[in-house]
Formats: sequence, structure tokens, C-alpha cells
Amino acid sequence: MQTRLPASLLHSAEGQRADAILRRCVHCGFCTATCPTYRLLGDELDSPRGRIYLIKSMLEGEPATRRTQLHLDRCLHCAACETTCPSGVEYTRLLAIGRRWAAERIRRPLPQVLTRALLRAVVPHRRRFARLLRLARRMRFLLPPSLRRQLHVRMDSGAPMPAGRKAKRKVILMQGCVQKSLSPATEAATRRVLARAGIACVTLGAENCCGALNHHLDAEQRALDEARRNIDAWWPQLEAGAEAIVVTASACGLMVKDYGELLAGDPAYAEKARRVSAAVRDPIELLEDCELPPATDGAERLIAFHPPCTLQHGLRLDRRVEDFLRARGFRLVDVRDRHLCCGSAGTYAILQPALSRRLRADKLDKLTREQPDCIVTANIGCQHHLQAATELPVFHWIELLDAPDVRGSWLEREGRSETR
Ligand code: SF4
Ligand code: SF4
Repeated sequence: MQTRLPASLLHSAEGQRADAILRRCVHCGFCTATCPTYRLLGDELDSPRGRIYLIKSMLEGEPATRRTQLHLDRCLHCAACETTCPSGVEYTRLLAIGRRWAAERIRRPLPQVLTRALLRAVVPHRRRFARLLRLARRMRFLLPPSLRRQLHVRMDSGAPMPAGRKAKRKVILMQGCVQKSLSPATEAATRRVLARAGIACVTLGAENCCGALNHHLDAEQRALDEARRNIDAWWPQLEAGAEAIVVTASACGLMVKDYGELLAGDPAYAEKARRVSAAVRDPIELLEDCELPPATDGAERLIAFHPPCTLQHGLRLDRRVEDFLRARGFRLVDVRDRHLCCGSAGTYAILQPALSRRLRADKLDKLTREQPDCIVTANIGCQHHLQAATELPVFHWIELLDAPDVRGSWLEREGRSETR
């Protein structure tokens, strides 16, 4: 694609990056076929190709309008278009530039400003979020049903750590922000499963949110500060021999994988950020190479796996979890349109609720067609979003390997507690 970005913009690293990405796009439109928002809305401006055109026009000097911002806001950042694109267009990097450009020039309506500020003030802060969740759960009877359904928590069974095997390897286990409150079962199961594989987990209190929320809400400097704080927290352990940073939420894993790129221009952190990014592992990347016993408990269950966009399109670990679970003897159903987003997409469910609900209804329809006993996934956002609209238990796939935990854990919903 030909571009005519002004010379002033082309002098900046960001302008050069945008120009290079735009020039790779040949306008073939293959990406529109796999774009969830284009499939729902049928508007070219809600497709990757249309959004690329909007961003190009803005950067070339066309005025940025609220309409432009709306089409960019509706994008899920799912990267299905990147997987499909034959020209290797880095759409999500271009989108981040376009959104920042628009945010600097368009004043958002007050309700949007307040909602975004509230999200930034609460969600990335582990303690604040935990306190608010506890309060909301106590007051659930005052809340509308739509909010009440967001309050379920995936509790840990409290099973003891497996004894007897001395850990020869050590990893940092990232705790994240919301997962610790919404699904303590995930971290506990990961510790036990890795311990069985001879890997000890270290957790660090100084660590904070990965920065994804601020990054996607155009608060770039805050996101970079969060990245720097995490690097400072993890660095001594990496220097002391921790072989990897294990991140159980694929959205956070993708963000940390990007630290090297995001901090490349910071002389104090560029090298450390590059090393941190290289050390990030989704649990599947560690467990594939470990000796673990085949499934015994729970292998009779029929399982539907939902691959988060950040796992399949972002981290490019498509099919790895399914193949691993099948090889261990678990029974997985085939799910149609598995490449499509469930509508969670970070804060999308809150900022674009109508589209998000339609995507979730479609996803749950596909996931439950063969009447599975449970749904497993690899990201807390998808897990929580799907769980809010189904009676089936939804949890991280690593709990399947921690079978006693799956049988004994509790799923609390709207004040009820159910043993699964
Ligand atoms: S982003 Fe890729 S698939 Fe989409 S129009 Fe451009 S070149 Fe074609
Ligand atoms: S990131 Fe997802 S929603 Fe956004 S344009 Fe690409 S495919 Fe469509």
C-alpha cells in the first residue's frame, strides 16, 4: 500500500513503524473473513482492512473523529487477522499506534472517561481489586443480576503439595492482578503440577499487573512503569538461576513477551526487558517436556477447550494444549470456529457489552454443542467471562492435571456453592 505520512511523523520511531506496517498491507481483504467484528456487523470499517485504512488516513492528516475512534474501540485486539494475513501485517501494533493517536486528538464523552479511569484505578491493583470483590460479594443481593453473575470465584481445594520429589528446577510464577482473587485455584494447581514435575515456583510480592490493561486503555506510560516494576521484581531471581517466568494467563504472558519491544527505547531497561521477554513461558511450554503420569482421575469427562486469542494468535501456541491433553488421555470435543474471540478481550466486555455478549453467546453455543462436562481455557479473562453465562464449570486446563483439585474445588455463584 502506498503511504503519504508527513515528514514530521516519519522522523519519529513510531511514525516509521506505522509506515512500515502500512506498506506491507496489499488490501487483499483475506483478514476480513476471520474478523469477529466484521462477521457481526458487516461494516468494512469494522474489519481489519477498514481500520487500517482509517489509521492510515488519520496519520496522513485527515481529522480524527469520534466515528473513527468508535471503529477502533470496537476492535477486540484478538489478532485473528494477523494469523490470517498472508503479508505478515502487524495489525495489533498499528492499532496501538492508531488508538494512541486518536486518544490524543479526540475528547471522549464523560461517561467513557470515568469508566476508563475507574477501570485503571481498580483492576490492575491486586489489593484494591480483592477488597472490592469481597465487598461486592457481601452486597450481592443489592446488585443487578448482570453484575451478580460476575462475582463467582474459582476456589482452590486446599490439596497439599505433593511430597517426595526434590525440585531440581526453579521458575518464577507470575501471580498477576485479578486472577489471584477470581481464581486462586489456578495458581495452586500450577504449583502442585509443577512440583510433581520437579519444578519449584517462586512468587514475588513486589510484582504488579503486567500492564496490559493500561496499555489497551491508551495509558502507555503507566503500562511501561508497570513493566519496569515487574522487571525490577523478577531480575534478582533471574540472576539467581530461575529458568523461566511462568504466566498462567495467556493475555498477561503476551504482554510480558512484549516488554522487550515496548522498552527497546529505554537504555536503562532495554536489555533486561529483552531477557525477561525471552524467559516468559506459558505452562504448556514447560509441561510438554516434563514427565507426568497419564490421566486417571477425570479422564472419562468430556472436555471443551477454548483457546484464548492471546494463546493462539498472540503467543502462537495454537493446538499445543489440546494435543498435550489428548496425549495424556483426556477426551476433548472438536469445537467449530475455535479461532474466534469469546468477547472477553480484556476490558471489552465492560466497554462494548452488547458486542461482547453476542460473541460469548456464539462461543458458548459452539463449545457446548457436544454436551461437554466442563470447559477449560488458558486465560482468566476468558474463564471468568464464559463462566458468567454458563452453568458448566469453566477453569484453567492445568487444573485437569491436578485431578483431585478439580474434583474437590468449589464454584461459587450468586451466593450458592456447588461441589463439582
Ligand atoms: S492486513 Fe493482510 S490480509 Fe488484511 S488486507 Fe492487508 S494484506 Fe490483506
Ligand atoms: S484484532 Fe480481531 S477484531 Fe480487531 S480487526 Fe483484527 S480480527 Fe478484527
